[in-house]
Amino acid sequence: SADALVISFGEMLIDFVPDTSGVSLAESQAFIKAPGGAPANVACAISKLGGNAAFIGKVGEDEFGRMLVDILRGNGVNTDGVSFDMEARTALAFVTLRKDGEREFMFYRNPSADMLLRESELNMDLIKQAKVFHYGSISLISEPCRSAHLAAMKVAREAGALLSYDPNVRLPLWPSDEAARSGIKSIWFDADLIKVSDDEVQFLTQGDPEKEDVVMSLWHDKLKMLLVTDGEKGCRYFTKNFKGRVTGFSVKAVDTTGAGDSFVGALLTAVARDPSLFHNEPKLREALTFANACGAMCTTQKGAIPALPTAKDAQNFISN
Ligand code: ADP
Repeated sequence: SADALVISFGEMLIDFVPDTSGVSLAESQAFIKAPGGAPANVACAISKLGGNAAFIGKVGEDEFGRMLVDILRGNGVNTDGVSFDMEARTALAFVTLRKDGEREFMFYRNPSADMLLRESELNMDLIKQAKVFHYGSISLISEPCRSAHLAAMKVAREAGALLSYDPNVRLPLWPSDEAARSGIKSIWFDADLIKVSDDEVQFLTQGDPEKEDVVMSLWHDKLKMLLVTDGEKGCRYFTKNFKGRVTGFSVKAVDTTGAGDSFVGALLTAVARDPSLFHNEPKLREALTFANACGAMCTTQKGAIPALPTAKDAQNFISN
């Protein structure tokens, strides 16, 4: 692809998604093995939409790890920045699907290979090529991955990349809510572009996410754009010069896993093609409509990566 490179950094794992919604994990009879991990989903989303994506992270030298790398490659993602841990196993998540398509997680992380990525293993030549460098929070929770994350961000920034952050709060993984808040805030001011959900605004501010001043309390000087997603209601955007809402699409959600990643992937694909997007409201609204469509489409099938749309699918979805 001739598009500018987007690198997505962080965890990659297997989601075990139950066949049946609305029953507990223990009552689930059968599971679908779905590749996931928010940053891996974002890399696949971009590549599936026709963009240029690389993933940086670590898996175990085991069947699941090899399967994940094959899936990234199969989706066209550059895996030159993926490391294998010789001892730790690939991370696993066990998902419970509620009747409304929302999900809850239990993790196998003991620690898992993805948390053991070291700074010395980073493919700095690859990182320096990034136009956009995207990451979440899970890789910040513990060493050695935290240092690797911070080093990668620094190299990307110095090479001129835009930094894109989706805190993607998964509370059970943090030692406490306070640790999660302070971990997220520790890298908040580095980002050029931040995507949060309504729930995350509430978690971070302890205020009402519908209120503009509450959202704006998260704003910082370096930020070019803050996006607040809210499921089927779509998203709100805040930039230096304009703000607004782009309404979402109404679909029958069966599994919302990956919706936010599908949304972010679509947006970053657009940003990589046109970094002036933040200054042009009509163009930005068009990109966000497309991102809402990609998010909505992702909820209509089980699993994250298998449910990500191609650009053609998303265009057809919008025009119908
Ligand atoms: P996250 O997955 O990070 O919690 P959201 O649930 O807010 O984020 O979803 C991200 C985007 O995906 C939304 O802005 C919307 O465009 C789309 N989306 C998510 N859930 C639905 C849904 N139930 N119906 C339609 N669109 C959805």
